[in-house]
Amino acid sequence: METTDTEIRCGQCHKLLARGWARDAHIVHKCPRCGAYNTLRATTANRQGQPPAKAG
Ligand SMILES: [Zn+2]
Repeated sequence: METTDTEIRCGQCHKLLARGWARDAHIVHKCPRCGAYNTLRATTANRQGQPPAKAG
């Protein structure tokens, strides 16, 4: 199991909006502090297709 320690902070006031965001997500988060819209884009470098099927 792998855990993501990604901290999403506001680009305006640097307020912590979210933590441990899901991978491959593209969500717009609104900062409750200053009301700025932050686009969260978490992309993974390793992107493999399906695992090799076992014969048998
Ligand atoms: Zn903010």
